[in-house]
Amino acid sequence: SAATLSRIGLAGLAVMGQNLALNVAEKGFPISVYNRTTSKVDETVDRARQEGALPLFGQYNPRDFVLSIQRPRSVIILVKAGAPVDQTIAALSEHMESGDCIIDGGNEWYENTERRIQEVSNRGILYLGMGVSGGEDGARNGPSLMPGGSYEAYSNVKDILMKVAAQVEDGPCVTYIGEGGSGNFVKMVHNGIEYGDMQLISEAYDVLKHVGGLSNSELSEIFSEWNRGELESFLIEITADIFKVKDEAGDGYLVDKILDKTGMKGTGKWTVQQEAGLHDGVVSVKSGIDKKRLIDDVRQALYASKICSYAQGMNLLRSKSDEKGWNLNLGELARIWKGGCIIRAVFLDRIKKAYQRNPKLASLIVDPEFAKEMVQRQAAWRRVVGLAISAGISTPGMCASLAYFDTYRRARLPANLVQAQRDLFGAHTYERIDRPGAFHTEWTKLA
Ligand code: NAP
Repeated sequence: SAATLSRIGLAGLAVMGQNLALNVAEKGFPISVYNRTTSKVDETVDRARQEGALPLFGQYNPRDFVLSIQRPRSVIILVKAGAPVDQTIAALSEHMESGDCIIDGGNEWYENTERRIQEVSNRGILYLGMGVSGGEDGARNGPSLMPGGSYEAYSNVKDILMKVAAQVEDGPCVTYIGEGGSGNFVKMVHNGIEYGDMQLISEAYDVLKHVGGLSNSELSEIFSEWNRGELESFLIEITADIFKVKDEAGDGYLVDKILDKTGMKGTGKWTVQQEAGLHDGVVSVKSGIDKKRLIDDVRQALYASKICSYAQGMNLLRSKSDEKGWNLNLGELARIWKGGCIIRAVFLDRIKKAYQRNPKLASLIVDPEFAKEMVQRQAAWRRVVGLAISAGISTPGMCASLAYFDTYRRARLPANLVQAQRDLFGAHTYERIDRPGAFHTEWTKLA
């Protein structure tokens, strides 16, 4: 009977699916669950019972699963991205009807989502590509959700998503992102920003450890202190914790025993070390480093670099949004990243406010507030990058961020010379600073 039908379904019960299904059930929405390998269905049902995350109903084949959900049906799938998603859609959609909706919660390439939107639309099936951030813990206790695609499909599950998402002071960490594959694209850029944050934190660690000579316990203290200021964030907090952990399998700290896996190992690295005549890799800089000042400089360099990293991520979203007509609301994206996800930070509230002040902001770094902060920090930032270069410590993230800032800061860049070269050898023409039009010069005749 209708009374026993579930409000929603979820197929794919690995780490993410299992946790998200329990989260949905716990919020009081009856949910049907299904997985290709049915032992995971039993596992999920057992876990739901143990954790009191009910009502949750296990289903053992695609047909029973789909038919156990009330119409219009909403089915979340959380399987490996790519072909498994197509196979799962094929198995489930066979039993679905016009008006039903598929919600892919995986990390899918946005163009695959756009192809699937087209494919299922032939049968009147609606589609959402929904980025889910926050890993296992986020899925269970409140993720940041980035649903894009059919607005009607979003409206059908909006009440569920609002309850399931992480909750912050200005609302649940979910919003309708836009049409097509926008939800997946936004999730992808979010992940890029996340790796940027991690890289910048690692560079700060490298400088503090190798130039400042800080011990792991000092590093832990410094990161804890930073977590009480403008850098307050999940990633800074967990970094402070990592430096506290001793190696259970030997002496010292665990972080020092972890292989620095970067894909830059072996013969390439040995060749450079051989040529440079360096064995430990760090060039000693002048003694007399003022530790306190270095720590304060690194904090400022990290913060300023972070602004540039976010500015570039946001501008990547803006240009794709313009190209695709998604009409992304960048301030709203910053808001839904304030909770649930790995990049959650107080800093995101400042980004939200910058876009509220001016939704058309050309770059975060030209927002008056951020611009002021960068100018205040640039001396410290240059000292840190300079010191790292002298010491032979590569800080590609901080350097690239500084280069981005300087590109904006300078009135004129040397691209005039590049334009002249292109016009000389390829008659590509150039524009002038003092009058409109395209110009070509016979450079070699005049030289
Ligand atoms: P996963 O390891 O990516 O995928 C395992 C799941 O996919 C299992 O349920 C598996 O079913 C199913 N599957 C694989 N091939 C299949 C096929 N051909 N047909 C049907 N089902 C198939 O799982 P996950 O780590 O939970 O991630 C799910 C999605 O969320 C991925 O897109 C991932 O990138 C994304 N994501 C993950 C995290 C995270 O922290 N793990 C965070 C955010 C987003 P069987 O049990 O039958 O093999």
